[in-house]
Amino acid sequence: MSIAENISTIRQNIPAGVKLVCVSKFHPAEAVMEAYRAGERRFGENRPQEMHEKAPLLPGDIEWHFIGNLQTNKVKLVVPIAAVIESMSNTRLVDEIEKQAARINKVQNCLIEIHVAQEETKQGFTPEEAVATFTPEYIAAHPHINICGVMGMASNTDDEAKVANDFRQIRRLFETLRAGVFKDKADFSELSMGMSGDYRIAISEHSTSVRIGSAIFGPRQY
Ligand SMILES: *Cc1c(COP(=O)(O)O)cnc(C)c1O
Repeated sequence: MSIAENISTIRQNIPAGVKLVCVSKFHPAEAVMEAYRAGERRFGENRPQEMHEKAPLLPGDIEWHFIGNLQTNKVKLVVPIAAVIESMSNTRLVDEIEKQAARINKVQNCLIEIHVAQEETKQGFTPEEAVATFTPEYIAAHPHINICGVMGMASNTDDEAKVANDFRQIRRLFETLRAGVFKDKADFSELSMGMSGDYRIAISEHSTSVRIGSAIFGPRQY
């Protein structure tokens, strides 16, 4: 199957209102161009250096989403490029994104990454931490960050009930924030959940944006 055929299959499986972020990490610019020619404009990368090198080779109307583990010393590579940083996962990172965005007079769109999965290695704020951290005062203290929603991953398991339960917890937290601290913010609207293996479950749990890599571009070479 070609990249264009894979995209067409996925597009048939996701409702029109759900956004598709094509995760192009570990795949060359030519692969991104194939997806671009098939009509896709949102692409996701998880390594700062790779995004920094790939983006200039590709059309300027691509909306780059940074979705990976982000160390504070790499934020300055990401902020000038990313339309959205989906993986805002700790307070040191929030402070550094604020600083680097202010430096270039940008308001950086970000999602709060939420950790609910069983793997300790995954990152993000727990639902409790997210509610405790993102107070009106804290949000006001970071004026160069525009928080547009939340992102999360389910546990890496074949147990679909567990996956659905993880996504439900992320959705509930999203709804809590939306009805709470973000209640007057119309663009707090993004619930980014679902990857190649679990996007159908994520959509049934009301995901608004799925991040799909291997089902579009094939297996990655690590
Ligand atoms: C790699 C990655 C994806 C895409 O994973 P696939 O299983 O290849 O679809 C989605 N989200 C994040 C955060 C990732 O790192």
